[in-house]
Amino acid sequence: MIAAFPTFSAIIWFAVGLLIMRIVWRFGFGMLKSMTSTLPPPPPTGEMRRINVRYRCSVCGVELRLTMAPDEDPPPPRHCLEDMDIVAPIE
Ligand SMILES: [Zn+2]
Repeated sequence: MIAAFPTFSAIIWFAVGLLIMRIVWRFGFGMLKSMTSTLPPPPPTGEMRRINVRYRCSVCGVELRLTMAPDEDPPPPRHCLEDMDIVAPIE
């Protein structure tokens, strides 16, 4: 046996250490992901614009009215995997 080479048990311990590190890393990453994927808190009501816009789904025909949005020209909501068509601003 040549002393310069690590012993078999040392290699095993190294591998186990790497495995533990990987598990801890993945666990930490999962925690971080679950923290960052939470939705941001809604802005205070004072910063919301009161709007009145109707949208219609071009696929199934459902209509909805949007009364509040963070800005006056919000992106259209989606229904049936399509962007909804703007019907008419009621104002
Ligand atoms: Zn639809």
